[in-house]
Amino acid sequence: MKTYIVGNWKMNFTVGESSIYLHKLLKKITPKKGLVVAIAPSTIALQPLSLQIDRKKIRLAAQNCCGKDYGAYTGETAVSQLRGLIDFCIIGHSERRFVFNESDKMIREKVAACVRNGITPILCIGETESERAFGETADVLKDQISTGLADVSREDLDKVIIAYEPVWAISSVKGAKVAVPDDISSSIDIIRKHLKDTYGKSTDETPVLYGGSVNPSNCGAYLTIPGVNGLLIGGSSLIADQFNDIIEIAKRVTA
Ligand code: PEP
Repeated sequence: MKTYIVGNWKMNFTVGESSIYLHKLLKKITPKKGLVVAIAPSTIALQPLSLQIDRKKIRLAAQNCCGKDYGAYTGETAVSQLRGLIDFCIIGHSERRFVFNESDKMIREKVAACVRNGITPILCIGETESERAFGETADVLKDQISTGLADVSREDLDKVIIAYEPVWAISSVKGAKVAVPDDISSSIDIIRKHLKDTYGKSTDETPVLYGGSVNPSNCGAYLTIPGVNGLLIGGSSLIADQFNDIIEIAKRVTA
């Protein structure tokens, strides 16, 4: 199983700043077999960065896409239009779910559009602080997996990545807490068991990433949690040196 280190830049950096960051990271990064590094800049930067990138070192991911392939959807970008630029697309990030009110149906359509277009969706799931407090974590995770993957066949399950991101651990959320490996471990077990129960086969080929306040000091511990195959990183991916430190630690702990 590969290890994935994915940086979600959210709505930061101009196209020029994105290019300078990429230039810096490309100079630092040395590729390692089995380690996949990706950055998710703003949509507007994907095309220019795709001309600059060295795909042996870094891949591109989109932060969002439309679930339709073309048509009268003003302001949207179809994943079919991103083909050739990106390898991955983040879908259902908690900011999309809660700030932009993305519904389960939209998320399901986006995941299916990615698979249909040969792009790997990174389906984000995770419970809020109050859901956790009320003991609803397992139900929320199972529900988000079932609805998000409703249009993905058993054969296509290995074309999907799941990112477990407890909303209460995302650094930009007010009062965010840093999750301890035990919190994550129990959720990863729920996710893997649910995939197995639903699809009736070993789901070891489905990568499951962790995301939430990851930084160079805690990434090693998160990466060694059984069943975790990589990290989705927000804040700490915005500084090229810090992101590269995480990549270097990933190389060591997954050796
Ligand atoms: C995210 O928003 O996907 C994320 C994981 O952010 P952070 O690393 O800043 O908590």
